[in-house]
Amino acid sequence: MGERDLLMIPGPIELEPSVLSRLAEKQRGHLDPVFMGRFSRTLKRLREVFQAPSAQPFVIAGTGTLAMELAAANLVQPGDHALVVNTGYFSDRMALMLERHGAAVTHVRATPGAAPSTAEVAAALATRKFQVLTVTHVDTSTGVLADVKAYASLAREHGALCVVDGVCSIGAEDLQQDAWGVDLALTASQKALGAPPGLAVVMAGPRALAAWKARTSPVRSVYLDFGEWLPVHQAYEALTPAYFATPAVNLISALEVSLELMLAEGLAARFARHVRVATAMRAGFEAMGLASLPQAGVRAHSLSALYYPAGVDAALVKAVGAQGVTIAGGLHPELKAKYFRVGHMGAVSANDVLATVSAVERSLVAAKVAVAPGAGVSAAERVLSGG
Ligand code: PMP
Repeated sequence: MGERDLLMIPGPIELEPSVLSRLAEKQRGHLDPVFMGRFSRTLKRLREVFQAPSAQPFVIAGTGTLAMELAAANLVQPGDHALVVNTGYFSDRMALMLERHGAAVTHVRATPGAAPSTAEVAAALATRKFQVLTVTHVDTSTGVLADVKAYASLAREHGALCVVDGVCSIGAEDLQQDAWGVDLALTASQKALGAPPGLAVVMAGPRALAAWKARTSPVRSVYLDFGEWLPVHQAYEALTPAYFATPAVNLISALEVSLELMLAEGLAARFARHVRVATAMRAGFEAMGLASLPQAGVRAHSLSALYYPAGVDAALVKAVGAQGVTIAGGLHPELKAKYFRVGHMGAVSANDVLATVSAVERSLVAAKVAVAPGAGVSAAERVLSGG
């Protein structure tokens, strides 16, 4: 990848220069007052981004997968039952973790590109008592956006905790954790939060913390146990020193900058920008004859997943890369070779949309696909210009 190439995969993403320059600062200790201030502000800002004033944030060195395992390890115990609203690859991963930590898992599955209906989820919840319901807000393998608000309300009605994997959504899609009754939401630093990879972010609401406190068996991992991390996070937020395991000083410092930029933009404006960008990107792809993997009505705004046209395969991803834009191949095991993905979250701009649509268009033309040069770019441009 060249220095001026554009990174348009569903994470990691292009970062704001001020976020990157934070990483190049002098190394500070984890109890340095400057760092403590940054960590404290990071925790407070995360509550705003998750729209969860009542929740406890955790920021722990690791990735989104660690955040998922923190949820599973702390909220389920052997003998529990969990319902997984399954929209693809990352829902399967969540199920694996719930099982590893002792839960019996029931899936409500949809075909790739769709989301289970609320009626299907309600019917499954009625079959027995579930301690936990999990949902992937945006499944990065299919580009499907789940109706978290509806599923969370069903979970609440049936006395199950609602856990949301927001790794590919939080910071790009509206998630109102408190208002929607989501008990635990999680993400990672490298996606729409706009920081480098390396941080697991978990926001545990009051009911999730109460369930953890009421456990009758210990969390089966010391590193994953909320009990180790809770006092440390409370101490940092209150600007008092504490230690359990060394915080990722530089990454947290970079995240602080990125969260400040997000809140300065304003959440509503940020979500609207993601809708505009996603709509323009898709208009461009559709004008080139590419079909969307996610069905209408459940398409995420943080990434797009498109089927290759006839006669084209994963070589397209390489060809687009050679045009200066890095995109991603397929991920869902059933369809992997048939589609590609384009991430558009975080600092993404109108210019990035046009560059990406143009690079795909040039690559299709070079592959002798019947696309009129400019068709995709002009359709995207019409959306961006409000036409
Ligand atoms: N959940 C979702 C929805 C994701 O998109 C990802 C990463 N692509 C993960 C979980 C796992 O995150 P990580 O790769 O940071 O471990």
